[in-house]
Amino acid sequence: MSYQKYADIIIDISHENLDKTYQYAVPEEFLSSAVIGAPVEVPFGLGNRRIKGYIVGLSDEPKINVEKIKPIHRVIVNDPVIESHLIYLAYWMKETFGGTMIDALKTVIPVKKAVKIKEKRRIVPAVSGNEIQKLYLEQKKKNNAARVRLLDALLKGQVLDYTDVTEGLNIGRTVLKWFEENGIIRIERELVYRNPFSRQKAQKEPVILNEKQQFIVNQIINDYNNGKRHTYLIHGVTGSGKTEVYMEVISKVIASGKQVIVLIPEIALTYQTVNRFYERFGDRVSILNSRMSDGERYDQSLRARNGEIDIIIGPRSALFTPFKNLGLIIIDEEHEGSYKSEITPKYHAVEVAKKRAELTGAFVILGSATPSLESYMKGLSGEYKLFTLDKRAKEATLPKVWIVDLREELKQKNRSIFSRKLKELMEDRLKKNEQIMLFINRRGYSGFVSCRSCGHVIKCNHCDIALTSHIHGKLICHYCGYEERMPALCPMCGSRYIATFGTGTQKVEEMVKKEFPKARVLRMDMDTTKGKNGYQEILSAFSNHQADILVGTQMIVKGHDFPLVTLVGIIAADLSLYAGDFRAGERTFQLLSQAAGRAGRDTIPGEVVIQTYHPEHYTVTAAAEGNYRKFYEQEMLYRQLLNYPPAAHILLVLVTAKDEGLADRAIAVIGEALKEHIRTKDFKSNIIGPAPASISKAMDIYRRVIYIKDGNYDVLIELKNYLEEYFKESGLFTGCSLQFDFDPMNV
Ligand code: ADP
Ligand code: ZN
Ligand code: ZN
Repeated sequence: MSYQKYADIIIDISHENLDKTYQYAVPEEFLSSAVIGAPVEVPFGLGNRRIKGYIVGLSDEPKINVEKIKPIHRVIVNDPVIESHLIYLAYWMKETFGGTMIDALKTVIPVKKAVKIKEKRRIVPAVSGNEIQKLYLEQKKKNNAARVRLLDALLKGQVLDYTDVTEGLNIGRTVLKWFEENGIIRIERELVYRNPFSRQKAQKEPVILNEKQQFIVNQIINDYNNGKRHTYLIHGVTGSGKTEVYMEVISKVIASGKQVIVLIPEIALTYQTVNRFYERFGDRVSILNSRMSDGERYDQSLRARNGEIDIIIGPRSALFTPFKNLGLIIIDEEHEGSYKSEITPKYHAVEVAKKRAELTGAFVILGSATPSLESYMKGLSGEYKLFTLDKRAKEATLPKVWIVDLREELKQKNRSIFSRKLKELMEDRLKKNEQIMLFINRRGYSGFVSCRSCGHVIKCNHCDIALTSHIHGKLICHYCGYEERMPALCPMCGSRYIATFGTGTQKVEEMVKKEFPKARVLRMDMDTTKGKNGYQEILSAFSNHQADILVGTQMIVKGHDFPLVTLVGIIAADLSLYAGDFRAGERTFQLLSQAAGRAGRDTIPGEVVIQTYHPEHYTVTAAAEGNYRKFYEQEMLYRQLLNYPPAAHILLVLVTAKDEGLADRAIAVIGEALKEHIRTKDFKSNIIGPAPASISKAMDIYRRVIYIKDGNYDVLIELKNYLEEYFKESGLFTGCSLQFDFDPMNV
């Protein structure tokens, strides 16, 4: 018996078994219904018991002896199970972004691990406050330090967590026993709830939307009620009330019996943000974050699947929450780089959200104060419906922005990292007991070379990209591989103050301590926020005014409101301008805009100082003016000129190998095959490279890249398919691996 088609079936759709597929034949009658993701009934095992599985792959050829292949018993139709959707979505992701079906399935299917329900103990006072007060004075006289500590805590806190008491207050068991035996405290046991907010009820009345907000909500809900499905882009300055718009739309969508996914960048996933959703929607909301264990995440996905929640808030991965009746996906701060996956399949959350919405009849809202060029272009062309909120919802004056030319500072013999203006304003704020944020862009730390006298940045002769300094005084272009030696003098002005640029947060902290010895300083970067609650602790300390100055990387510019911050200093705006990729200008504009948005958010007006070597650069001036349109238009010209996304598309082909020679040979062979294929197909694609990747060796693995530019995304997909096939079939690449990244974020 021969068949036209064979299907790979997964019997147990769980993480451990995603690579265990079994091939079955597809009988004639199921040829049209046997599609990827379809649930099927197949005979399985010795007794040929009929069990349920899912189709995850289709082919024309059997992998084993045809005699041994059993046919599918039936395809289960009209059974719109969520697994089918997710499997199909995984398939689409593999096709669109590259990688294997298993990679894709692992991305969309949650890891199945049960949550261990922990027991938590707490200490509750068993006597009145007056009595505790009396005991406190008694014990104090007797100098029983440990007992005094606990009584003091009881006076302040009422109910105490057991570990906080034993470890935090360093109070031993015998002391606790004494308290318990004398009937002063009770030690109670409670189960830790799976969701920290699960008993909370909605408690807050929504705000009354202003006219503009209401207009947006009406438009969206009208479309929704009329069965129209669009993607919306809300371009709204920070504080303009986007979140209130989201919540109003969400309430309408869940009232119609559907569920909602809200993506926010991990870094903005703070207690304050999430709490606003809890206040409005109570225990129908749940969250995901990267600090949760696999078990906790699995638990959330079960709750979503069982209909116990209507809204999930989380980072990129929350996109795959198995809601059965999805109505809406919101992506806040849609421009954020973290929405692009760094592991294969290297998908962008916005694209996957649109696909998932299309498959399930849901719709998508994107929001940002500084939309990605991709999204704004689609907003202008009408592919997305674009809405604008250009004023803050609550009365707050926009900050005054000063642009300081660092070249002038050097001329005036000021070699400090603080310009005279910034220093003057810092002194003023410290005197007034107001707070200051100093922002330094870490990304620029990777080291481009610039002249301290004239600001000249050394660039590649062939690309508009800063060269990156490497050991032995080599400067390399990460786009095309061009190399030159580090010059002794500035090629522009002949100054010898030419050096690899990089001012880390630690350095800034040191300088603050040196120049403002009385100020209390906190530093926030990757190093100081390693612990579980690291950055929350720093932020709340700053929020409680336990410090005057907060020094930090981009972490500090997002999400938080500090009413006492009236001065924001951006130490070197240029650091991200020459970070070495075509998105550098966009990222700089976003960071400067966000940093500026931190100053003066309450009644006290704020000031912002942007220190830069390029005071006339459009990213700097547009951010200072809060003029997104100006930035967009300039930046698009540049992208069009050089065929960078979104004016065209780029496919990054990455080859990795443990052996450097092998990596070089492999990428060369692939480059040739690619050129040949492009010629035969008569494509217009442009190939750049081969070159070492910007991280040319990582963990002893060599990385080589080719960039392909083309105006047509489908051509790039075809080239990816061709290369995947060639890589597999030619047998030339043992020991190498091949990856793809479409319109990469970090190049
Ligand atoms: P965004 O998400 O655009 O940053 P938010 O929705 O967080 O803006 O709004 C900023 C602040 O203004 C919040 O404290 C919010 O509660 C408040 N706010 C927003 N819209 C209104 C409104 N129509 N009336 C009163 N306060 C509002
Ligand atoms: Zn110079
Ligand atoms: Zn170059």
